[in-house]
Formats: sequence, structure tokens, C-alpha cells
Amino acid sequence: MRLSSTINVKAEKTYLPLPDPLPIRPYTVAPYGCVTPPGSKSITNRALILAALSPGTTTIENALFSRDTEIMVTALQQLGIRVAPDRPAGRITVSGCGGDLPIREARFNVGNAGTAARFFTALLSLKAGGSYHLDGDPAMRRRPMKGLLDALVTLGAEVEYEGAPGFFPFHLRTAGLHGGSVSVDASASSQMLSALLLVAPFAQGRLEIQLQGKTVSQPFVSMTLGLLKRWGWAPETLQGRGNVFGGAPPPEPPFAELWVEPDATAASYFMILPRVVSGAVTVRGLGAIALQGDIRFAEVLERLGVKRRRQGDDLAFSYNQSLHETGDQPMLQENLKDISDTFLTLAAIAPLLPAPTQIEGIGHTRRQETDRINAVATELRKLGQEVRCEEDAIEIRPDLPALRRAAHSGVTISTYDDHRIAMSFAILGCADLRGNGQPWLFLQSPENCRKTYPGFFHDLQELRFRVIAIDGGAASGKSTTAKALAKALHLLHVDTGSFYRAVTLLLLRYRLRADEPSEVEEFLEGFQATSEILERSVQLILVRRPYSRAELRAANVNEEVSSFAALPEVRRFLLRYQRSLVFLAREKGYAGLIMEGRDIGSVIFPDADFKFFLEADETTRFDRRAGEGQEDAITLRDQMDATRKTAPMVCPRDAIRIDTSKLSIAEVVESIRSSIAGRAQ
Ligand code: C5P
Repeated sequence: MRLSSTINVKAEKTYLPLPDPLPIRPYTVAPYGCVTPPGSKSITNRALILAALSPGTTTIENALFSRDTEIMVTALQQLGIRVAPDRPAGRITVSGCGGDLPIREARFNVGNAGTAARFFTALLSLKAGGSYHLDGDPAMRRRPMKGLLDALVTLGAEVEYEGAPGFFPFHLRTAGLHGGSVSVDASASSQMLSALLLVAPFAQGRLEIQLQGKTVSQPFVSMTLGLLKRWGWAPETLQGRGNVFGGAPPPEPPFAELWVEPDATAASYFMILPRVVSGAVTVRGLGAIALQGDIRFAEVLERLGVKRRRQGDDLAFSYNQSLHETGDQPMLQENLKDISDTFLTLAAIAPLLPAPTQIEGIGHTRRQETDRINAVATELRKLGQEVRCEEDAIEIRPDLPALRRAAHSGVTISTYDDHRIAMSFAILGCADLRGNGQPWLFLQSPENCRKTYPGFFHDLQELRFRVIAIDGGAASGKSTTAKALAKALHLLHVDTGSFYRAVTLLLLRYRLRADEPSEVEEFLEGFQATSEILERSVQLILVRRPYSRAELRAANVNEEVSSFAALPEVRRFLLRYQRSLVFLAREKGYAGLIMEGRDIGSVIFPDADFKFFLEADETTRFDRRAGEGQEDAITLRDQMDATRKTAPMVCPRDAIRIDTSKLSIAEVVESIRSSIAGRAQ
């Protein structure tokens, strides 16, 4: 269901706590929708540093609010810089200090945020006569800092390690960033080099920064240089000799408002989703990415058969083959050194691929949130996969039967305090390996995603949710078909005909008449519609209990229902209730809603994801009713339903018509299922 003006189905930006472990509900219907990933973490945290240093005020739009960026915001505030986050608006306003840091002595904790750890430490070095204690959480204490700290010492700072040398915690005495020449060892993390580049415009003299050896993730260095350029503070780049900053006070940036691109790494989970569950996912704003290297993950996906299409600033990714192809497939060999944040996205779904996957150039990820190579190998082995690790590489030999066996008994995946492990395995869990829509992958500590993507599971659910409208006349086969589809696709089933029947029964019992609409309206005002779910079908309760099928199908109800259903008063009463069932379906964890009736695709859900209109010839319909032992003047009812003024039965313009006269239920179901799958290509 796309966002609609009639009902606001998008939740606000606070996310409910998730169960732990979190069962990942597989997709039973291929997704066909849009997702808007949050703003880039890497750009937000770099922009915060640059804005803090700017002489004026900068507004950062589409900023990411996540654990890592909140750590940076708090640290800057503790340093006395005016940083005003407006979370609902996705905006952070920073009144910069022009390079003159306000607070001289303080203690900071950078949690496990690598960007905050490196960039903020470098920022502190600008203060003349500063004295700062810095620490991180236990995982951060194991992550490399030495390359940066050595460079800062060369440029005038003093570092006293309070734990293991080269790691947090430490005491930093600063003397302002001297000019001169320094070479940075960024082999462990490109953030070392980026950190220095970000603050170098405020060095006290001409500063030449050279790279010692090679860096990993070169695109992140380009991102830093790209942002410095936007600020008008770009260094002079000397071929093979590094970057030179002039030592003059940097000017005001040429803008006061910076728009943060959507996070390409966060997008990678949704980019690969169609490869796992088929379908098409459009990622908003991804086509406008200029600063992030991880967008190159799209090229890896191309080699996996995922198609990419540009739609303005959006990119759509689609895939339509069955899960496991046959025939010989070449091994997938990728060197992901430059885009290593996406390696987990690929590794986690490798068990579904038709050939082995070999990923190289990822040794440095052993020193990120966790030893990522080791962690992913351990979890994939739990899933029965053969995995070979090297210092710098991983090879996964897929074993689908073993994966299915593991899925059959259910698997709990550990996430190692690592957001990316959580999100990557969540995508694998979307594959319907048991074929019944039942969760088989359970994620421990799913809240880890808050580090960079607090709404991840919400977006995953949002994309999964489908509204399917089925309209048609009496005995056209709607109910049987809708029930079968609900079962196959794990949808909540709603037979709105039964609602009109229930209301009719109630009105008849209270001796109300269709030709006295104002009395009907007044009477209905006193009733609150509530629901009960019986075998995934919604039962409307008006008084104490749902009516039985026999009561709802009684001859007098058959006779009167169309007259009452023609009243706008009755339709208004049911309209809001029918729409509210979307929330019930979501709340109960269904993959969507399948609603059948006469006006579902035209009035109740005009922007339903899928619309079908069933019809059958008169003899067939008559035989069907007679077969059910019912006396029902269906032709008359249809005529009344189709000619009434309010919400007449129509075939919605964008519905698919299916003549069910000569088809079995299984054939109708199959035809609808394949239209749904076909649309998702
Ligand atoms: O589907 P069923 O035959 O049980 O529907 C009974 C009657 O309820 C229909 O003939 C029609 O008058 C009314 N109805 C309606 N709008 C719907 C569903 C049913 O008017 N969406």
C-alpha cells in the first residue's frame, strides 16, 4: 500500500522496542514498493565536524539521527558548540566556532562510533592548551586509533594512554594543530586520514598530509575531500605527495544549508532484497548520490542478475528468477576493499546463490564493530554453509538443502553488537524457506540497527505489507479465492459482505427499515464495531459475539442486505472500520490485507497495491449458490448493488478482470498469484 491521503499508514519516527530475539517474517508476496533510507551516517558526522568549525551557522538537512550521530552531537555540545537537533524534521542547526573550540578541559565517551572516535579526537587537537580524557565502550577500546594519534603527536599533541598503547582510553593534551608535514598510517581505517583532513584547514601553518602506505576504503577519503570542497576548504592535491592546506583562516562556506544524501550502505539491504524474494524495490534519492562509494554495490548486484532502472533521483532494483537457478554458474568473485561496509550484505545472502561467493579485500573489517569475517562465518556455519576464511577474504560455498534443513528447525543469529550483521541477516530471513510464511530466522539484539538505521525493521515491514482488493458480484468466487490467498500469502482476510450482512441482521432484529435511513443512522451511532480474528478472517462484532455463518446467510438477510447496503448511512458506518483493519493486520504481523466486496478497489482502498474483479456467467453463479443450499436472488442483488448511488459495484479501472466460470479455485488463485508476481518485476 503506498502512502495515501485517505489513511496515514506511515508510522511516526519513533520506533517501538523490538522483541529479542526478533522473528523475521519471510516475504510471501514479492515486494513492489519504495523505501527511503535515512541520511548518510558518514556524511552527517563529517558535516557536523565541518559545521562546528565553520565561522557561521549551518543547517544540515536530511541528517541521520542514530546512535552514532547522536554521540557526535552530544560530544560537540559538551565541547560548548551550539548544536540544535530537530529530530522530527531531520535537521541539525550548528552555530560554528570558527575553529576556536570553547571548552578547554572535558571528558568524552565516543561509545562504539568509529567516526566520532576519530573525527572528534582530531577536532580536539585544534585547541591550544586543551586537556581531554577520551574513552569508548569495550568494543571501541579494541578498535585502532594509533595511526591518527601518532599523526596528531607529530603535529603538537601529547597522548598518554590509560590502557593499551594505541587504543582508548587516553588523555590528550593539545597545543593547536601545527603546520608542517605529516604522514598518516590509514591502513587500518580510512577514518584516520579523513579525521585529519577534516580539521587540517584550521592548522596554524601550511600543512602537508601524506598517506603512509595505502588506505582501505578510498571512496570515504574522496567523500571527505568532496565535502571539504563544498565548504570551500579543499586542499591542494599534489600528485603522489598528498594534500596541502595553506594555513590561512578558511573562509565562510558558500552555503548555509547542506542536504545529506541517503545512506548508500543502508540502501544496500533493500537493493539486494529483490535478489532474495524477487520483486522490485525503488530506493528514493539513491540516483542523486555523489559522495558515497557504496553506491558501487549496484554493480555487484548487476553481476547477480539484479536489474537497475533510474527514475529521476530514484533507483529501482528488480529481480524475477526463482530462488535457485540450475546449471553451471561461475563463482562470484568480488574485491570489496573500497566498499567493505557492503560485504556483509552480500555474504549473508550467499547461501541462496547458485555458485560460491568469494569476497576479498576485507581484512580491515576484522577490526570494526566486531571481527566481521569471523562473525559472519560463524553465523553462516550455523546455517549449514561451508565457509573458508583467510585474513583478508571469505569464501562461502552455498548449500541450499542444508539451509532449508536449518530453516526447518529455526535458527537464532547472533549479531555481535554489530548493526550491519543484524540488517544483513534480516534480509536472508526474508526468504520463505519453509514455504509457509513462517519465520525461521530469529535475530538476537535487533536493536543494534539503531546505530545507523533506527527505522530499518519498520521499513522492512512497510515494504512487505500489501493491500489486495477483490471485488465482484455474488457467487463470483471472491470468498473462496480470497481465503485461499490469505492462507497462502499470510494475509488477513476480510469479507466485507459479511459486515453488511451483520449490520442488516442487527437492523432487522431491532425492526429498523431501509426506507427510514435517519433512524438507521441514529441507531448505528450507538454501536462500536470491534473485531475478532478466526482462522485469519476478520469477524465483525456489534453485540458481544460475531454472528454465525447460518445467521448471516439466513433468507431474510439475503433478501434485505442490498437495500441496507445502498444507504450512505450504513456505508459510512462501515467505511472507517474497514480502513482501520490495515492497522489490525499490521499489529498482528500479517504480510498484508486481502479485502473482498463490491467497492474495495474503488472506494475503500482506491490505492490498493493490487485490484482484481471476479465475474462468472449466470448459470455458474446460480449453480454455486444452489450447491451451497442457499436461496439467494443473486441477479437482483447484483443489479441493486451495481445501480445504487453510493459506492456502486464497479470494476475499478485499474483492476484485473478474471472470469472464473470455467476455472477451478486453484486456477483462480494461481492466476492472481502470478499477476502479483508478474507486477513485481
Ligand atoms: O458478498 P456478499 O454476497 O456476502 O454480500 C452481501 C451484500 O452486501 C451484497 O449484495 C451487497 O449489497 C453488500 N455489499 C456491499 N459492499 C461490499 C460488500 C457487500 O454493498 N463491499
